[in-house]
Amino acid sequence: MENFDAIVIGGGPAGSTAATLIARQGKSVVLIEKEYFPRHHIGESLLPASLPILESLGVNEEIQSAGFLKKYGATMVWGTSPDPWSWYFAETNRKYTHSYQVVRSTFDHILLNNSIKSGVDVRQGHQVTKIHHREDYVSGVEIHTPDNKIIDLEAPITIDASGQSAILARNMNLLEWDDFFQNLAVYGYFENAEKLEAPDENNIFIEAHPEGWNWLIPLHNGTVSVGVVVDSNIASKQLHSSDLEEFLCHYISYSSHISNLLGNATLTSPPQAVRDWSYAANSFVGDGYILVGDAACFIDPLFSSGVHLAMNAGLLASAYVNTLFTDSTLALESRVIYTKLYKQQYEHFRELAKLFYSSNHTSDSYFWETRKLTPDAFDLPARTAFINAVAGQPAQGYERVVIEQGEAPSFIIDAIKNVEDTREQRKIKIDTSTEYFPDSIPKLAANVELKNEPILENNEFVRSYVIYKENRMVGYPVSNLIAASLPFINGKASIASISQEISNEYGIDANTILPIIINAFKIMYIDGIIETFIL
Ligand SMILES: Cc1cc2nc3c(=O)[nH]c(=O)nc-3n(C[C@H](O)[C@H](O)[C@H](O)COP(=O)(O)OP(=O)(O)OC[C@H]3O[C@@H](n4cnc5c(N)ncnc54)[C@H](O)[C@@H]3O)c2cc1C
Repeated sequence: MENFDAIVIGGGPAGSTAATLIARQGKSVVLIEKEYFPRHHIGESLLPASLPILESLGVNEEIQSAGFLKKYGATMVWGTSPDPWSWYFAETNRKYTHSYQVVRSTFDHILLNNSIKSGVDVRQGHQVTKIHHREDYVSGVEIHTPDNKIIDLEAPITIDASGQSAILARNMNLLEWDDFFQNLAVYGYFENAEKLEAPDENNIFIEAHPEGWNWLIPLHNGTVSVGVVVDSNIASKQLHSSDLEEFLCHYISYSSHISNLLGNATLTSPPQAVRDWSYAANSFVGDGYILVGDAACFIDPLFSSGVHLAMNAGLLASAYVNTLFTDSTLALESRVIYTKLYKQQYEHFRELAKLFYSSNHTSDSYFWETRKLTPDAFDLPARTAFINAVAGQPAQGYERVVIEQGEAPSFIIDAIKNVEDTREQRKIKIDTSTEYFPDSIPKLAANVELKNEPILENNEFVRSYVIYKENRMVGYPVSNLIAASLPFINGKASIASISQEISNEYGIDANTILPIIINAFKIMYIDGIIETFIL
C-alpha cells in the first residue's frame, strides 16, 4: 500500500492540469496513465478560452515552440447558405484572437511532462483496475504495473480523469446518456490536401451535408485530420458491410468542398471509429472523489469544446482539492459550486449544439429533420441560462454564428431578443435619466437572494457574497460593501440613506460610499436585480 495526498487516474489534458496545479501547492500527487506518452488521441482543434489555462500552467512557450498551427476561426458550410463562410475569434475576443490546431500526442505530452516537472509522480504504462471504497467513500485504487504487479494506492481524494473510460463513474453507476446526441464519428489523417485560401488556411472547416457533418482540421505536420459525424444507428448497420476506409471516403464524398480539398490527398494510416454519444455523470464530486473531463461528461465535438472543458475542470478540481486540505468545511460547500460551474459550461455547449442541429437548413434529410427541436426538448433552466448568457453579451463566437447564420427556432430567437431589448431599454433609461440619483429609492426584483458561499479565487475556493436571481444557475459575486447594502433595499430607503446606514454601521465616509453604490446599483438595474428606482 502506498499513500498520497491525491491520486489522479489518466494523463490527458484534464488529469495533467489537475495534477500539476495540486502538486504546486506542495501536495504529494500520483498520476496513473495506462499508455506511454506520446500516445495518439482525437480532438485537435482548441478554443482560445484554454489559453489562460495554458498560461497558468506555464507551458505557453513550449506550446508556441512546438509549431502548432494558429487557428484564427472556423469556416463552415451550414445554416441557410450552401456557400462556405468564415468567422474569426478576433471578432468577439480582443485578448485571445487565436487558439491552436494541435497534434494531441505532442500537446498532451507537453502537459504531462509539465506535471512531472511540477513534482507529480507520473506512472505511465500503469493501469487502474479497481476503485477502492471504505464505508461510504472512495479510499483509493488498485493498479496493475507493467511488470504485472498489483499495488494498492490510498489517498483522501481520487481524481478520475480517465476520459471516456470514466472508470469511477462506471464503477459507481453515475453515467447518464443523452438521448439527443447519439452519433458516430469515423476519422483519418490525409497528406497532400489543399488548403483553404488565406486568411482561412488554418481554420477548422465544418461542412454539413444531408447525412451529417464532416470536419477538416489542418495540422502543422503537413497532414489534415478529417472526420465524418453521422447517425449512430444508421452508421452501425452500414459498418457491418463496409470497412472503415470505404465508410470514411463514402461520407467524405457528400461534402463537396472537403472532397475538393482532398482531391490529390492520400490516407496516412487506417481510419478509426469512435462512438460520439454524449453523457454526464449525475454526481461530479462526492466523498473521496471528483470527476474531471470526459470522465465526468462528454458533449458532441461540434464546437471543439472537449479539451477546454477538460482543462477547465482540471483547474476547478485542483481548487477543490487545495481547499480540501485547508478548510474541509468550505470544501464541502465547494462541491456544489464545482458542480454548478462545470455544469454551466457543459450545458452551455450542449444547448448550443442542440441549437446548431435544429438550425441547419442546407438540407431537409432524415439526419437534420430528426434533430429539429420543439421548445419542450430544451431543458428549461439550461435554456434560460443559455439565453441569458448569449443575450446582449458579445457572443463567444459560435453562439453568434449559430444564431445569425442558421435558422434558429423562433422561440429561441424571440427569447434572446426579449432579454436583449429589456436590457437595452434599462440601459437607455439609466443613461438618459436626469433625476438626482441619491434621492431615488431602489426596489429589488422578486426572488433575489444574497448568499455567502465559495467562489474561485487564485486556484482556491474562498468565501464571498454572491447574488442570485431567479433562473440563474450561478450567482454574481459582489463586494462586502454591496452585500451590506442589500438588506437596506426595502422599497423605502433612498440610495443616499442606504449609504448613510452603511457609513454608520461600518464607519466609512458616506461620500466615499455613495458613488460606489450608485454605480453598482445601476449595473444591478440593467441586469434586472434591481427592478426599479422609485423617485
Ligand atoms: C470524434 C471526436 C472529435 C473530437 N474533436 C475535438 C476537438 O476538435 N477539440 C476538442 O477540444 N475536443 C475534441 N474532442 C473531445 C476531446 O477528445 C476530449 O474531450 C478530451 O480529450 C478530454 O480530455 P480528458 O483528459 O478528459 O480525457 P483523455 O484525453 O481521453 O485522457 C484520458 C486518459 O486516461 C487514460 N486512462 C483511461 N483509463 C485508464 C485507466 N484505467 N488507468 C490509467 N489510465 C487510464 C487514457 O489512456 C488517457 O490517456 C473530440 C472527441 C471526439 C470523440
